[in-house]
Amino acid sequence: MTMTKKEEDDDLLPDKDAAKGFYAKYEPKEILGRGISSTVRRCIEKETGREFAAKIIDVGAESGDASPSQMLEATRQEIAILRQVMGHPYIIELQDVFESDAFIFLVFELCRNGELFDYLTSVVTLSEKKTRYIMRQIFEGVDYIHSNSIVHRDLKPENILLDDNFNVKITDFGFAKVLDNNDKLFDLCGTPGYLAPETLKCSMWEKSPGYSKEVDIWACGVIMFTLLVGCPPFWHRKQMVMLRNIMEGKYSFTSPEWADISEDPKDLIRKCLVVEPEKRITVKEALAHPFFTTTRKPKQNKLKMYIFPRLKLQLRRQSQFNARKKFQYAILCVRAMVRIKRLRYTIEPLRMEDSLKDPYRVKILRKVIDGCAFRVYGHWVKKGEGQNRAALFENTPRTELHTLYLANLSR
Ligand code: ADP
Ligand code: MG
Repeated sequence: MTMTKKEEDDDLLPDKDAAKGFYAKYEPKEILGRGISSTVRRCIEKETGREFAAKIIDVGAESGDASPSQMLEATRQEIAILRQVMGHPYIIELQDVFESDAFIFLVFELCRNGELFDYLTSVVTLSEKKTRYIMRQIFEGVDYIHSNSIVHRDLKPENILLDDNFNVKITDFGFAKVLDNNDKLFDLCGTPGYLAPETLKCSMWEKSPGYSKEVDIWACGVIMFTLLVGCPPFWHRKQMVMLRNIMEGKYSFTSPEWADISEDPKDLIRKCLVVEPEKRITVKEALAHPFFTTTRKPKQNKLKMYIFPRLKLQLRRQSQFNARKKFQYAILCVRAMVRIKRLRYTIEPLRMEDSLKDPYRVKILRKVIDGCAFRVYGHWVKKGEGQNRAALFENTPRTELHTLYLANLSR
């Protein structure tokens, strides 16, 4: 028996008895997104008809290396952090929490415009202006997170949502961590393409000094690069090569899309993607960067700058009737037509290069050569006897003659 899409979705819904509170208050609808052990659904608050997004986390099941108790602990930590950071315009608002043995329900404000990732996929690249708008909000959100001594650790376009007005909402604090007294972190978590070099070094080098908030700035650099040109800076089909590129900070602004992008955004990306975390720009410095503070006109394509004013001028001129100009154009057109018609009677142009390489191929020279040849060798070069007169004027020696000549020399 095959299941319909709706039945499949319903099958994934958790045991209703285990979460009476949630079901009494909300009506779950379609799936908005999925994670490793969570499903996010649109839901409607029954009393008010308002829409929300419910993240339903299966804490009863094993998830990767995590046992159910670890999952429960991690989710409780996520909730505590969400409660600490919410209230900021660019951070997701947690509305309600329901906890049962097997599931935890987190009810969030609904972001109708979905993930920044999907938006980027639909538009391919963002203009400098739009990138500035989005990145300023991301940095402001990160600034607030960091000022609360929290590091997000999984910033990426999939975890940045867009509300009805296309404003940013940073979400998914599943990997976020509270830093007490400038603690250092050592565990490897996040998403490969967005991992900072110091995070990777932790998993490879025992004496690694650990990492801290700077990893979020690195991720912001990767996001900004991706928004501007539609592809990430370190991506490589072989993951090992990608990780090595990250560790070495090896990326470039060489793809053609970068030619039209001004210096300020490139400079900010460069400052975010600095391998040594202590030399990397801080979130406050990033917000004070000229990319955000100076409103320069975006770099104009030189060609556009050159062509458009001329084109405008021409169009303006064309819109005014000028009898004298029209007559001149008509004469030019007639002259051009006559030239084209006469083309087949015109003598073919003589190119120095061709006449030096193979003079016999040029019709006019062939006549001269034939005339000379007849006069000089007339007694033995005869037309129609299979002899190649062109050979008399060849610039390169015939191979058999050349070998004969060399053989004579060596004697
Ligand atoms: P996970 O920790 O499993 O990655 P997320 O919190 O990132 O879970 O949510 C998974 C996906 O669900 C998001 O990438 C997004 O597509 C969707 N989603 C999450 N929260 C919301 C929301 N508030 N509004 C709209 N979609 C959401
Ligand atoms: Mg996520």
